[in-house]
Amino acid sequence: MSSDCIFCKIARGEIPSRKVYEDEEILAFHDIHPWAPVHFLMVPKAHIASLAHVSEVHQPLLGRMLAMAPKLALQEGCQPYPQGGHRVVINTGAHGGQEVQHLHIHVMGGPRPWLKG
Ligand code: AMP
Ligand code: ZN
Repeated sequence: MSSDCIFCKIARGEIPSRKVYEDEEILAFHDIHPWAPVHFLMVPKAHIASLAHVSEVHQPLLGRMLAMAPKLALQEGCQPYPQGGHRVVINTGAHGGQEVQHLHIHVMGGPRPWLKG
């Protein structure tokens, strides 16, 4: 946990979010500035700064998050693969466009055009 991290605060319920999914390890919530009709973020509740900080101990958690993304995408209104589908993005570091330093998976979908991407 990191006391001044915005996604840790969301995971602790100190900052409100529009929740998509929650369990002991994972929280998913809608992005506050969506660039697609469906746009939510999946975060580990534990503070991991970025994908660059992930090690072998995180593999089950990351695998679970990735496997869950298509199910949550359908739940949130993305149309099924292959006509529909969704995009999964993990921005990492400054050159990767990462603005919040707590690992998060963007899941975006819905009919195009999108604002970005
Ligand atoms: P990134 O550029 O990959 O670090 O993306 C950070 C994302 O977090 C952006 O898409 C923001 O819109 C989103 N974001 C920032 N603050 C909040 C918040 N309080 N609730 C939901 N999404 C947020
Ligand atoms: Zn954090």
